[in-house]
Amino acid sequence: MDRVIADFDNGIRKYAHIEPPDLKNKEQVTKMWKKLSRVPHYYDKLDLMPGAERGVAALFEMLGEDLEILTGVPNPTRGLPTASDDKRIWMRRKFKQKIVVNTVLRAEKKNFCTGKDCILIDDNEQNIEEWEAAGGTGILFKDWSQVLDVIPEICARFR
Ligand SMILES: [Mg+2]
Repeated sequence: MDRVIADFDNGIRKYAHIEPPDLKNKEQVTKMWKKLSRVPHYYDKLDLMPGAERGVAALFEMLGEDLEILTGVPNPTRGLPTASDDKRIWMRRKFKQKIVVNTVLRAEKKNFCTGKDCILIDDNEQNIEEWEAAGGTGILFKDWSQVLDVIPEICARFR
């Protein structure tokens, strides 16, 4: 969801007033979460990523209720206890389609994989690697036109 459907990075700029951190820099990441924990309902404040509205609608048209959101929430120690609820409320408000939202810790995403025909679209390389290691099909997100380009061919493999 973050950096695919929801513009997490721009939210950091807008509400924490800092540049998005280098995710490998622990100090910067800790500072970011500290700032975001002071923004009430941060995840419910985010803007859509470019192309996300049209992209999600197109996927829903192809997949119907097989389309689900699998999204990571911050570790409880980060102090954003409403993250899961905020993400669900945000999805409901931004999209008229009824889409299930699964919220998990990032490291648990791979546990949702049920086989090769289970496709994960994610901007995080580690998530894609773990998903494929679990036997699924991964799409490393660049932008929505890339996703809509490759999805029909990938789905056709499983029909
Ligand atoms: Mg993401």
